[in-house]
Formats: sequence, C-alpha cells, structure tokens
Amino acid sequence: MPTTAHSKHPEHPTATAGETVTRLRAAFATGRTRPLSWRKAQLRALRTLLTDHRAEFAAALHADLGKSRTEAHLTETGFVVKEIDHTLRHLDRWLRPRRVPVPLTLAPARARTVREPLGTVLIISPWNYPLMLALAPLVGALAAGNCAVIKPSELAPATSALLAERLPRALDPEAVAVVEGAVPETTALLEQPFDHIFYTGNGTVGRVVMAAAARRLTPVTLELGGKSPAVVESGTDLRAAARRIAWGKFLNAGQSCTAPDYVLAIGEAATGIERHLTAAIREMYGTEPSASADYGRVVNERHFDRLLALLDGDGGGRLVTGGEHDRTTRYLAPTVLADVDPDAPVMREEIFGPILPIIRVPDLDAAIAFITARDKPLALYGFTASRHSKHRLATETSSGALAFGVPNAHLSVPGLPFGGVGESGLGRYHGAHSLDTFSHTKAVLDKPLLLDPLRAVYPPYTHRKESLLRRFL
Ligand code: NAD
Repeated sequence: MPTTAHSKHPEHPTATAGETVTRLRAAFATGRTRPLSWRKAQLRALRTLLTDHRAEFAAALHADLGKSRTEAHLTETGFVVKEIDHTLRHLDRWLRPRRVPVPLTLAPARARTVREPLGTVLIISPWNYPLMLALAPLVGALAAGNCAVIKPSELAPATSALLAERLPRALDPEAVAVVEGAVPETTALLEQPFDHIFYTGNGTVGRVVMAAAARRLTPVTLELGGKSPAVVESGTDLRAAARRIAWGKFLNAGQSCTAPDYVLAIGEAATGIERHLTAAIREMYGTEPSASADYGRVVNERHFDRLLALLDGDGGGRLVTGGEHDRTTRYLAPTVLADVDPDAPVMREEIFGPILPIIRVPDLDAAIAFITARDKPLALYGFTASRHSKHRLATETSSGALAFGVPNAHLSVPGLPFGGVGESGLGRYHGAHSLDTFSHTKAVLDKPLLLDPLRAVYPPYTHRKESLLRRFL
C-alpha cells in the first residue's frame, strides 16, 4: 500500500514513511550510532539547538498553546536540557557492562549484562507539551544508540514544523527523522518495521498503536493519561495545599497529563480548600485571568467545546469560581466546581482542561474506595499531615506515581521513573529508565573450554551422575 507520510530531511524532503524508515535502518546497520562518542555528540547538539533557539521554540509554543515564556522554559526546553545534562553526566556508568555472579557449579565462568541499542525506534508525541514529549524520549533513544523517527502532534503545528525544520539539521540526519502529519501519516508509519514504538497520548489511540505493533511483535511504551486525584485531609495546611494544587492544575490551562484532575476532600477540608483555591487562583492569575500573560489557552475548538459540555453536564455541582469563556480565543477561566456528583460527565473522563471538581468524602476509607473503584491513575497526590494516612495511600492504592505535598514535580526528579500503570500506561522512562526502555539488556556468559566439569551432566546418565546432580543442582 502506498504511504503518504513525508519526512523532513535536507536531502530527502519528500521521502515516504517506508523510504525514511529504510534509510534509518540502513544507517543503524552500519553501526554509526553505536559509539559512545556519537551518542554524546548528538545529545550535545540537541542541547545547543535548544539553548541557541530557545526564543524560537518559545514563540512556537506560544502560537500553539498560548504558553508563557517562563512555562516554555520550565516545562519544555529547560526540562529537556536538564534531561540531557543528567544523561551526559551518567551515561558512561549506565552503559558499563554489569558483572553478575556465576553459580559455583558453573565455575570457572564469567557472566555479565550488556546494553545494546534496539535499532530504529518510533516516537509519537501529543500536543500538550509538544516539544518536551517529543524530545525527552529522543534523549533516551539517542543515548541508547538508536536511530529515531519522531512524529510530532499535528495539533501543535508550529512546534511540529519547527522540530521538522531544525532537528535533522542539528542532529545526524541519517539517524534522526521527523515525519509530520495526522492519522494517515501515523498509520503509514505504524506499518513500517520499528524496533520499539514509544507513544504518548490517549488510551484509545494507545490501543491502535499496540495493535499495530503486535503485528510485528514490536515492543511498545504507552505513556497515557487518566484522572489523577488529589486527596486533601483536614489538619494539613490548606492554604499551601490549595496553592500547590492550583499551580499543578492550571499550568498549561490544565492540559497536563499529571495535573490533578479532581480533588477528593475529606470531611471539613472541603470548605477550606474551596476558599483557598479561589484565593490561590486570584494570587496567580489576578481577578481577570484572561488578561494574564501567564495563563494558557485551550488547544483547539474541539477541546474547547468538549470542556464546555463537561462544565454544563448534569451533576456538575456548584460553580465556586471561574466558568467565564470565550470561544474565539479558546479562553476558559480557571474553574472550580464543588459538590460534584461522582457520576457527572466531568467525572467520567479525563478533564484535560482548567476545570477542577471537588468531591467531598467522609473519611480516608471512602477516599481510598473511590480511587480503587476507578482506573489506576497516572499520579495520585496526597495532602495530609498524617503519616498513617500517607502509609495507607501508599499501600492501599495503585498509580503510576504517588506524590505528597506537590503535583507534577516528580517528573523533575531525574532518578524517578515516569510512566503509568494499567489504563494510565505501560512502561517508563526518564534518565536511566530511558536507557532501559530503549536498550536490550543482553545476557552474556563466557565459559572457558579448558576445564570441563560439565561432563558430570552429559549423557549417558548414571545413578552416580544423578545423585551428584541432585546434590548440587
Ligand atoms: P494527540 O491528539 O496529539 O495524539 C497523540 C499522537 O497520536 C499524535 O501524534 C497524533 O497524530 C497521533 N494519533 C492520533 N490519532 C491517531 C490514530 N488514529 N492512529 C495513529 N496515531 C494517531 O494527543 P492526545 O491523545 O489528545 O493527548 C492527550 C492525552 O495524552 C491525554 O490523555 C493525556 O493525559 C495523555 N498524555 C500523557 C502523557 C504521559 O506522559 N503519560 C503526557 C501527555 C499527555
């Protein structure tokens, strides 16, 4: 079947998906991506690209999502630069073969594990952090010595075009390609032979990706989303908790996979958190958030209409603050809803926008039951002063990540893996975990031929050999 996806390459601007992947696979086969020096040179070049063209990337992110320059640095370019620095600092050690003890019965012998690159990988990224979610996986793919095709999101067209323009010029164009496009182009890519597919986005498309990968037994990483709850208990500093929750939620106009999706307020905490959230929103974005340069916009009209429908849905509760909107600018004010019915539309899907429902539950038992009755979230946030409550949340619930006292920030701890569980995803990355994702850990055993105690296990089997085997193996 002819393919329609076209890659950006200075010398092959109209290559099809098939031609692009064939070219990259041929480059991988030459071994050019394996040397440590090549990997480090790519990472340094990517770093230079991001720092030299910071303003250009910030402008593209502003065009796509109304992202402020500070957020563009904090959550996109600066984030990837930190990931590169951490990787460059530790890569030698991560790539060192690891000795593994050999059982006495196999001595003399040596065993070790070595990491080898997988080959050519496909990275499919979404629109909400269109730079970071394309390049953070690329850091891992390059560090592990792979070739990579990046398919940025068509819903962030300015960032997609800039990546397509800049990446193959800054990096080794025989090893890195950007293929722009939407569903037909991604479908064409998914028909190609890849050695790993790294997908970030929603679970429906995640299933499409996994089904396509299954045809060739291609391993996948699925970085998905879901409804991440923030449990708030009274006895904690509600003012500080509200500030942290408001920051985590309204960053990028609520379009973050790890944003607190809703608040589960225990007992009396409900009234307090409501009041403090309103105050926190005012502190951060003023009385007129539409005029704040720091507040983003909803990505497109489809998502805008979806969010308004959630807001108007039955059981949506009482409007605490926000609700103002303007379709022409895709502005939706930071919005808090209270007394929300757990079955309301706003509680049935990931909100992925600036609407924060508060659900009141009587106690921690009810909060835990609420969480465990639903899909495993990408993140669970706890705001509590009680060690016992922390222990219960940690041991009685399951989520991609668990963080106390702050949302989103676990992403910037370089040693922590990032990924979901169950409906929120499959696999993990960041730092050394990216190396695990984009490498094969090969088992190597080396046994000299000189001595041959193994003769004891060769046929013909005798009673004596059998009793020896029973004693030692
Ligand atoms: P999106 O619409 O940009 O889609 C993601 C990618 O999938 C794009 O590159 C798109 O072209 C491709 N795609 C779309 N439909 C396809 C199809 N039918 N076949 C093949 N490819 C297709 O982004 P989205 O899915 O709306 O992203 C939002 C979701 O992603 C949310 O659920 C969010 O929680 C999740 N997310 C997860 C993470 C994470 O790291 N876990 C990060 C960001 C977003």
